Amino acid sequence: MDIAVPREIKNNEYRVGMTPAGVRELIRAGHRVRVQTGAGEGVGFGDDHYAAAGAELVADAAALFAGAELIVKVKEPQPEEYRRLKPGQVLFTYLHLAPDEAQTKGLLASGCTAIAYETVTDAHGGLPLLAPMSEVAGRMAVQAGAHCLEKAQGGRGVLLGGVPGVPPARVLVLGGGVVGINAARMAMGLGADVTIFDKSLPRLTQLDALYGPAIKTQYSTADAIEAELERADLVIGAVLIPGASAPKLITRDMLNKLPKGAVLVDVAIDQGGCFETSTPTTHQQPTFEVEGVVHYCVANMPGAVARTATLALTNATLPFVLDLANKGWRRALNEDVHLARGLNVHAGKVVYRAVAEAHGLAH
Ligand code: NAD
Repeated sequence: MDIAVPREIKNNEYRVGMTPAGVRELIRAGHRVRVQTGAGEGVGFGDDHYAAAGAELVADAAALFAGAELIVKVKEPQPEEYRRLKPGQVLFTYLHLAPDEAQTKGLLASGCTAIAYETVTDAHGGLPLLAPMSEVAGRMAVQAGAHCLEKAQGGRGVLLGGVPGVPPARVLVLGGGVVGINAARMAMGLGADVTIFDKSLPRLTQLDALYGPAIKTQYSTADAIEAELERADLVIGAVLIPGASAPKLITRDMLNKLPKGAVLVDVAIDQGGCFETSTPTTHQQPTFEVEGVVHYCVANMPGAVARTATLALTNATLPFVLDLANKGWRRALNEDVHLARGLNVHAGKVVYRAVAEAHGLAH
């Protein structure tokens, strides 16, 4: 199969859809891989790395798209990209179509087959192609929070791990899913005093079994959260109610319970945020202050660690890419119900129920 890996053109996107290691696997399986010049430059994979792995380098995006049977990307196609897609081509990437009418129309008009990373499922009810980015964001949340706690960033001047004779910082993690567990692990690793809140008792039981007394678990209610705020240094918002906006677990009224210079990191900002006072920020200007509390609300946290994020993402996507290439998309989807759930658009129709409903279309 002819597989194409374009250079990402969305603003500030440095990730790439396939590493040279992935190219090598596909070449070994007998496929042809073409990579756009400079596609991996932002994350340290030069054209020479791709050439050594067996890829053909193509400078012109139009030529790259024209011959491809399978196109592997990271971000949703931009207008100039979806205008290049055509019937018979398979696009495999993050799409997030529900709120994006222009892209949905573009993909429908192209006639292509579009499989979205974010709706592929696994046997445990998880989303295996979203999880790597949650792992990255969860771990980064502690790094970002620790930095924000420094005086020069407006924080209260607290070191997460404390030192002998000085107690560690108190970190609250709201939501014990993929982001939450990864945040908790990092905070524990730095020696902080960590409490995780969740609404799911099985999840709290699992966390307790995993970490024992190194971590405290709390059933999540407004009362329980409020009671902990007075002594909190860093609060990480990591809740998710699938398909819904994030619940506001810390309201504006509750902010005055926090010490001045405490830090809120709202990882759930991409679902509207779980603090009432959160609004999305960027890596250029990541924080703002409300009532003396520092807010960090970057909506694409993994973008800052694009190399780690690329490796994490492509580790998860490569088996699916190989399956699509080896079997063709129809057989690959027929044989794997989880990959089949990734199918969002085919031959001018939205075939994923939630996306069709979001756009008032039949599916
Ligand atoms: P997840 O489904 O693995 O975990 C969410 C957890 O929240 C679950 O354990 C659930 O029981 C819990 N929860 C739900 N309601 C709760 C409540 N009221 N109180 C406490 N816990 C509650 O989801 P995830 O992968 O960890 O993602 C969490 C959020 O982070 C999502 O909104 C996701 O989109 C976002 N995210 C953001 C970035 C970023 O760059 N900002 C990157 C990756 C993920």
